[in-house]
Amino acid sequence: MRPADAWIDPSQSKARAWVTHGHGDHARSGHGAVLATPETLAIMEVRYGPQRGQPIAYDETIRVGDVDVRFVPAGHVLGSAQIVMEYKGERIVVSGDYKRRPDPTCACFVPVPCDVFVTEATFGLPVFRHPETGSEIDRLLHRLHADPSRCVLVGAYALGKAQRIITELRARGHSEPIYFHGAIERLNQLYESFGVELGELRHTGGATKQEMAGRVVIAPPGALNDRWSRRLPDPVTAMASGWMRIRQRARQRNVELPLVISDHADWDELTMTIRELEPTEVWITHGREEALKHWCMTHQIKACELNLVGYEDEDD
Ligand SMILES: [Zn+2]
Ligand SMILES: [Zn+2]
Repeated sequence: MRPADAWIDPSQSKARAWVTHGHGDHARSGHGAVLATPETLAIMEVRYGPQRGQPIAYDETIRVGDVDVRFVPAGHVLGSAQIVMEYKGERIVVSGDYKRRPDPTCACFVPVPCDVFVTEATFGLPVFRHPETGSEIDRLLHRLHADPSRCVLVGAYALGKAQRIITELRARGHSEPIYFHGAIERLNQLYESFGVELGELRHTGGATKQEMAGRVVIAPPGALNDRWSRRLPDPVTAMASGWMRIRQRARQRNVELPLVISDHADWDELTMTIRELEPTEVWITHGREEALKHWCMTHQIKACELNLVGYEDEDD
């Protein structure tokens, strides 16, 4: 953002960074000063240690150089924000990563009409249509209850997805203890400290196979096929990701129960959002840009690909 001399989600360390959310491909360590929501700053501190951060609450406006800046909810993970910038009568919205469906762990996406909308396109193909979250959670519970001697091991991105799966299970009436891999412990605690209720959680370390039979176990995707999983009672391997739509991806990870649950907008959410915001221009940052660009052009909206590299949403 040149008139404010600041960078948004820079992939290299910069003197002044504005960070949309805490995922590693957007929030990197080593910046001079970081402008972000209090939640995002707290996530960065858990991951990288103390930050020179300036917290900005949702809907607070600050002026940097000649630019008015405001962060509004993006509905992606706890603290995630779109950055709204007004400069010389023009409004640009940088959405970061976002989704439109409700998520009990974070504030809902707020649509802000704008001249230029900068969007991701992680699932920017018409084949990507995420099913209802509740029905995916019901498939998980059905599988869990089908064989009480086994556990269901759910691979879920440690920041956001893991906590969302837990709260969605609670919302479906699952009140049993849920076991977790140590790698998500601090983020669970952080979510709870911001008021997200996760119910009774137990560390897998020290638990016996017998105790974990008939239970849900949540772990980061990298742990699914790891030696660590041998301590679990005959796990049904599940994975919660938008990519589970693609069978081959599920097979690659030996996933028996693919759950299509994503923190990114699917094709309908992407196109619905652009329709709603009525921007004159759309800039597409990362993902499958071609199809969305084409869709914009057929709807008389100027669109361009920014071809940004370094933003990976592989497990999301
Ligand atoms: Zn993200
Ligand atoms: Zn991303």
